[in-house]
Amino acid sequence: MTIASINYQKVNVDKGYTDRLLEVNLSDKTISVSEIPAATREMFVGGRGYCLKLVYDKTKASTRYDSPENVLAFAGGPFCGESSFAGTGKFIIGSISPLTETFCDSNVGGYFFPLVKNSGFDAITVTGKSAEDVVIFIDDAAGTISLRKAPATDSSLLTAEKLVEEWRGADKPNSIAFVSAGIGSKNTFFGCINSIYYDPRRQRCRAKQAGRGGLGTVMRDKGLWGIVVKSNLSGGAGNQADDKKRLRRAGTSLRKVIRDVDPNELRLAQQGTTSLLDMMNNNDILPVHNYKFGRDERQHLVSGKIFEEKVFDQKHPDGCFAGCTLACTKGCEGHTLTTGPFAGRTVPVDGPEYETAAAITNLGIFDIPAIMEYAWYCDEYALDTISTGVVIAFLIEAYQEGYLNRDDTDGIELKWDDQETLFNLLHRMAAGSTGFAGEIGRGIRHMKGWISERAAVRNGNDKEKIMRELELFGMESKGLEFSMYITKESLAQQGGYGFALKGPQHDESWLIALDQIKNEMPSFDEKAAALRWFPLFRTWFNIAGLCKLPWIDVRHPDAAKTDDPAKNLPTIECYLELVNSTMGTEKNLDDLLTESERSYLLHKLINLRQGFGTRMHDRIPLRAMAPVFTDEFSSRREYYVNYLKENTEIKINGQDDAELLKNLQDHRRRQYEILTDTVYAEKGFDLNGIPLDETLERLGFTDPEYLEIVAQARQRQ
Ligand code: SF4
Repeated sequence: MTIASINYQKVNVDKGYTDRLLEVNLSDKTISVSEIPAATREMFVGGRGYCLKLVYDKTKASTRYDSPENVLAFAGGPFCGESSFAGTGKFIIGSISPLTETFCDSNVGGYFFPLVKNSGFDAITVTGKSAEDVVIFIDDAAGTISLRKAPATDSSLLTAEKLVEEWRGADKPNSIAFVSAGIGSKNTFFGCINSIYYDPRRQRCRAKQAGRGGLGTVMRDKGLWGIVVKSNLSGGAGNQADDKKRLRRAGTSLRKVIRDVDPNELRLAQQGTTSLLDMMNNNDILPVHNYKFGRDERQHLVSGKIFEEKVFDQKHPDGCFAGCTLACTKGCEGHTLTTGPFAGRTVPVDGPEYETAAAITNLGIFDIPAIMEYAWYCDEYALDTISTGVVIAFLIEAYQEGYLNRDDTDGIELKWDDQETLFNLLHRMAAGSTGFAGEIGRGIRHMKGWISERAAVRNGNDKEKIMRELELFGMESKGLEFSMYITKESLAQQGGYGFALKGPQHDESWLIALDQIKNEMPSFDEKAAALRWFPLFRTWFNIAGLCKLPWIDVRHPDAAKTDDPAKNLPTIECYLELVNSTMGTEKNLDDLLTESERSYLLHKLINLRQGFGTRMHDRIPLRAMAPVFTDEFSSRREYYVNYLKENTEIKINGQDDAELLKNLQDHRRRQYEILTDTVYAEKGFDLNGIPLDETLERLGFTDPEYLEIVAQARQRQ
């Protein structure tokens, strides 16, 4: 049933842009198309930059995730949909998050946004709320955008092929792509959004996820079941680069590097990102038992090699969009579910990626069928695999340490290495029952308060003291659960998580290999320089609408000849060619970094406006810096004793493990504070993490509104 509809005049892509915004208000059921101002394009480029600007403009300091005026923004970038280059199917979704209460975004691949762009739009915003679930339907050929009654299902994956069949009419199934979120998004604060497209090679729908920050929760709270786009890429005008020959040369050059390097390095095209499991375990970085331990002798049971040889179907190349020869979107065609509402069914599973698998090793489970089951159910329910797993790990540890008991957990015993604990909590959380299961879906930050209150009443203890104890190992910062890397031995990655504007997610900076494994940045200054440069260049991928894996995970052979191999500058040359051949410009790397820094600064300003964004919000739990408990210390005793001898003046002799541990913790806390000072100076912030006037001016943020946000933040200090 159609609720509202408009006809629109499509604007074709020109040099990467349509400059059109589709706006839908679900409260008054209005649909409109407007031109994106040239100044917005100039300042914020696309992707995350556009999402930030659109959310900033339409929300205010009092906006919460469930406020009607909250914006759910979707944006590709100027290279989204360019099939001559690898990694161009990505788009960004951003909003005020239920977990962090400020801007959070997540990137995701697939055909959805390339089809949206082909239909004439660079961005979409959804505001307002609908009492009944609705779906937005963009029909490129018909030239219509409509609001329709939502399909009568909360399923994300199981009904996908049926819906594609219904929606496609006489067109091919791959003319349809859609985003949607299942029941877990309705019932938790960390719902993800599935990006679903039909893969003709596998003859089924596939799903990628915008996982972080509860964007699926925002979507379902608005009464938005999903957005469907129907368009024909082969009949479209393409990305209309300014110089197509030059662009093809750059694309061919990047593909050659991928072809020559990846099979001998990470083997992403064969193993997906599960190849990281071996590397992380070998370097004490793989999370086990709520990030307590960094390796486990059972890891060989879930190695990337097993995924390559026994799990993933290798018959088809698996790019999440045409033109990506890195093709890391692996999957299997038949996993038989053994738990939950669909037990007994055999389903195809997309992924799992490293993060999903490591969320399970973090519970002490080293079993591939359990990983596949978890991956499928999280996607079907539309739950972020990272937050879901990290919440469960925290609860198990809190239970094992005596902060929770069966009275709190509705009678469930929470155990390590136990699939029953995992799936019991997962299914209950998604179903959204009241009681314990209803509470845990609100994330670790909420659960720390809930547990400390109950434990204080039960034991007659001081609630604040219990809260401080839970904060030592409750792995969240800014309200977002940590992604899946142990950072205790990498100060740079501690900063990479702590200073990340959206919370501890590795997409802003992932320095653990350079810092811990290769020791390429021993000094504070070197770490601080990396913590400025890498977040900026990584942010550029998100504003450009590009996947960063072909740059960060495939090092160009010539990079070794440069002064700073980690920056992979020869591959960046390919990206500069992509930019300039598409847009008809002659930008250099500094130009890209400045563009990125503007979006970075706007994110900082939104955080400050929402009441966050200062030094106290960049704190991370002790477990991200050092062992918390003595058994954790003892598991690597020799390493830590040597570390203390080499890096501190502490006298080792005569101290027991508890004293040594305390010394280590104090030392690590001091290191983090020094790093914070150094990084803030490098980024042009004051000691409270607030941008200096000269930083605002340098990047063109001289509007009185921006200055007022900063002035108010300074006053609060
Ligand atoms: S590298 Fe993987 S995630 Fe990135 S665009 Fe290619 S297939 Fe998609």
